[in-house]
Amino acid sequence: MTKTKRSEQEFRPAKKSLGQNFLVDPNYISKIVDALEIGEDETIIEIGPGRGAITEYLVESGANVVAIELDRDIVSILRQQFASSKNVSIVEADATGVDFERLLEDQKPKTKGQSQSIKLVANLPYYVSTPILQHLATQRHLFARLVLMFQKEVVDRITAKPGSSDRGFLTVLTEAAFDVEKLFDVPPNAFQPVPKVTSSVAIFRPKENKIKDEEKFRKLISMAFAQKRKTILNNLKTVYPNASDSLVRGEIDPTRRAESISLEEWQRLFLAIY
Ligand code: SAM
Repeated sequence: MTKTKRSEQEFRPAKKSLGQNFLVDPNYISKIVDALEIGEDETIIEIGPGRGAITEYLVESGANVVAIELDRDIVSILRQQFASSKNVSIVEADATGVDFERLLEDQKPKTKGQSQSIKLVANLPYYVSTPILQHLATQRHLFARLVLMFQKEVVDRITAKPGSSDRGFLTVLTEAAFDVEKLFDVPPNAFQPVPKVTSSVAIFRPKENKIKDEEKFRKLISMAFAQKRKTILNNLKTVYPNASDSLVRGEIDPTRRAESISLEEWQRLFLAIY
């Protein structure tokens, strides 16, 4: 990257509304890129490239890079910044609505063609964590792995075990879709501007859900966690007339709270209800 282009980016104030805290510590950038384990002929999708801190390393690795950025001002700067790199496309879009299969199809002529595997990396603002994870879960079959950075409390929530008050709708949905391995925390001073919170990086490895109708599964989990202090039966009975019988058949005590229930129990309950 030339000095002029870098200073143009740095001069532009970060937009708080888009969660723009840019990674500036090269050690953490390297650790994130290492976690992708980029091999030959791979395509890496990056969500929210920002000032291109991670993007630069991806481009240098020789992978096909498709970076999706919502902020139009950043998109035009990134396009200049990477104008001479043949292996990167900067796409202006809201990643929560992107059909990744179609995106990759559209990008094929620009990239080197067929990829051995597709991976995704993102350093995501807090406000978009839930919608993006839900969206990625529905399209996870495309990816060999995802390396995602969220605010630490989001990763704590996603990895919360049964019985933890951190456990919620997002935990169960994520558990059903991915094996999650938390890697490391990233302190506030690794970013510019410096955020108030610590972040965490985790690898998400897609897996098959035993439940094929994931839409209905999502509805069950969302209803069950509607009011966290209520029992599972009280949350479910207004929506599912057979809730009481199904809990018995699924061998789940109806007085338990949703946060105490494991993924295997949710899957059993689903099969009893539907
Ligand atoms: N990856 C860069 C880094 O690590 O320095 C930037 C990270 S910054 C926390 C998040 C980036 O995501 C910003 O550039 C922001 O504009 C972008 N962004 C926010 N919401 C987005 C969305 N829905 N779709 C695509 N990009 C988004």
